[in-house]
Amino acid sequence: MKLSWEVVSNSDKLWVKVICSKYGVDPRHLPLSLPEKQGSRVWKAIRSTWSATMRGARWAVCDGARTRFWLDCWATKQGPLINLAEHPIPQELVNATVRDFTNVHGSWNWPVFEHLLPSCILLQIASVMPPDPRLGVDKIFWRFDPRGSFTVRSAYESLGQLDLTDTDTAWHLAWSWKGPQAVRIFLWQVLHAKLKTKDELSRRHIPVSLGCERCGAPLEDIIHVLRDCHCIKRLWLRLVPDRNQLAFFQSSLREWTIANLQNKWQIACPLTWECIFGVTVWRLWYWRNHFNVDGKLADSSTIYLDIMARANEIHRLNQSQISQQLRRKEILIGWLPPPWPLVQTEHRWLL
Ligand SMILES: [Zn+2]
Repeated sequence: MKLSWEVVSNSDKLWVKVICSKYGVDPRHLPLSLPEKQGSRVWKAIRSTWSATMRGARWAVCDGARTRFWLDCWATKQGPLINLAEHPIPQELVNATVRDFTNVHGSWNWPVFEHLLPSCILLQIASVMPPDPRLGVDKIFWRFDPRGSFTVRSAYESLGQLDLTDTDTAWHLAWSWKGPQAVRIFLWQVLHAKLKTKDELSRRHIPVSLGCERCGAPLEDIIHVLRDCHCIKRLWLRLVPDRNQLAFFQSSLREWTIANLQNKWQIACPLTWECIFGVTVWRLWYWRNHFNVDGKLADSSTIYLDIMARANEIHRLNQSQISQQLRRKEILIGWLPPPWPLVQTEHRWLL
């Protein structure tokens, strides 16, 4: 985590510039998750703690020239504003800085963004002083330390808190998923990142080519099989509304899985989104294996129909179980003691 924090907070250091350049990350505009590709031990160490580090990184807005309005944490404790938006963010505004949202008088330019965010978040933005060039450059700080400095102790404590909550939530989401046990077990494997993709097989020293045989991408890892593969992207674009697509395609595997099982982005659909998501990832894994065995690539319409048929069936069964539960009547039951027998002893009759 110390290395991750160095990358986050010291983008001018030479080694940070070198490693970011090598792995295609812009150190001045840090992503919420890093690309999941092979790399050196240092890069793997940074990648493994990146999400936790980014959750602790907050921006103190001064001139507003570096902090990104939608993508960085600066106004609220709930994370980047893009995750809290109620409407799709116009593409040209996604990477805009905080300074871009002020008017010529130096005040917040409310008409540009007030229709995109809920009122409770707007109130929090109103409590932040608009950027001012006289205050100097924006500064990043560590929110788990009262002085804003990164310390191993505060990082360790924050990691413990975050992991405990996160892990408990994740397992609960997988095991409480309403549907066949096979899907629950599959979701549990996804959260454990244990699917036998090419990446995982290679990690276990099994000699396989790393690339995706369906689309030709250089690395087939879990997030590629379940979300990013070119051959299935059209399917997700059909299922996920336009306004949610940016956040949907940005998060890391674990965050993505948890967010969908919680329907964090409030994706509206005729069935429950949790049901459709669980069935979709489960069937995408089936169709990937089907291709590897038979060599036949199913088109996205076939996969879509397969998923929707199964999701509808599971949803129907869930609904019928709920209605059966509602039909049940509560009946109070009791127990009447039998008449006491008379037992003869040597000297007396006992009841
Ligand atoms: Zn692919």
